[in-house]
Amino acid sequence: MSKFWSPFVKSLVPYVPGEQPKLNKLVKLNTNENPYGPSPKALEAMRAELGDGLRLYPDPNSDLLKQAVAAYYKVQPNQVFLGNGSDEVLAHIFYGLFQHDQPLLFPDISYSFYPVYCGLYGIAHETVALDEQFQIRVHDYARPNGGIIFPNPNAPTGCLLALEAIEQILKASPDSVVVVDEAYIDFGGETAISLVDRYPNLLVTQTLSKSRSLAGLRVGLAVGHPDLIEALERVKNSFNSYPLDRLAIVGATAAFEDQAHFNTTRNAVIASREALVEQLQGKGFEVLPSAANFIFARHPQHDAAGLAAKVREQGVIVRHFKQERIAQFLRITIGTPEQNQALLDALSDI
Ligand code: PMP
Repeated sequence: MSKFWSPFVKSLVPYVPGEQPKLNKLVKLNTNENPYGPSPKALEAMRAELGDGLRLYPDPNSDLLKQAVAAYYKVQPNQVFLGNGSDEVLAHIFYGLFQHDQPLLFPDISYSFYPVYCGLYGIAHETVALDEQFQIRVHDYARPNGGIIFPNPNAPTGCLLALEAIEQILKASPDSVVVVDEAYIDFGGETAISLVDRYPNLLVTQTLSKSRSLAGLRVGLAVGHPDLIEALERVKNSFNSYPLDRLAIVGATAAFEDQAHFNTTRNAVIASREALVEQLQGKGFEVLPSAANFIFARHPQHDAAGLAAKVREQGVIVRHFKQERIAQFLRITIGTPEQNQALLDALSDI
């Protein structure tokens, strides 16, 4: 603490991201990155962009990428917002759309950045308990609120909510913005973007960090009614005019255009997930049904924190959360078949 800080900084509780170890021989199954590389076409586009042109600022509107995203999802470019990772997109959503008298609602078990943004922007919020099976109960959200947000599939559970259930939530709160955070949707769900033209209160966020394997490039997006997008543009243009750099704009655009690479890598992750679930169940783990690139699992006889520490000694890192309700679970990112095998070997040794 320092006398130079703005007073409210003393009360901030920042988000703690998963470890990014300096040793690269570790098998890293802790932050839901994609084990396969990005599209070679995306890499090529970025190499071509590397040159004297970097002395110029990028397009503040990232129109090239907006058009690619709009074409991909069959919406208009003015229904697309872009940011420096979906975390930044979410930050602008919290600031621009969630500051109301009624509390923001989100699940008790969900992305741990949400309460951090509430703290940063002074947004009142209430958590809504998942049911015993860790599923979202839609009718629990039918109550006065200043906005609703949940990941789909949920994180860190991996559980998917059907589009019909999302529609029930939208219909019950027509005067609130409902944000569906689809960071992991490509690994087993159907995007709610198909609903944005029917629900002006729906905003869907996505990221290129997971299914497009570009976590290091930092590109995220939101799709919704042009009025919601305009609020986000106002916040963005009051904060940072150029969140996406020149490399990010061309790399992300090429990634969206490379459907073949997307399909191959996504299908490989899904196939590995199904295989890993079966093998973990064979070892006595209980695994929640996952539509994501990670699974959430617990073992009835082994303490989760202890297991995480022991597999780490064998060079494999997974994520453990201390939050009481999920303290006996491990969140395991799906790796390549070899990485998953390294985890299974480490568990066998225990
Ligand atoms: N939403 C959820 C549910 C996430 O798990 C993550 C990844 N930590 C994000 C959003 C943010 O991802 P990014 O900023 O890399 O787009």
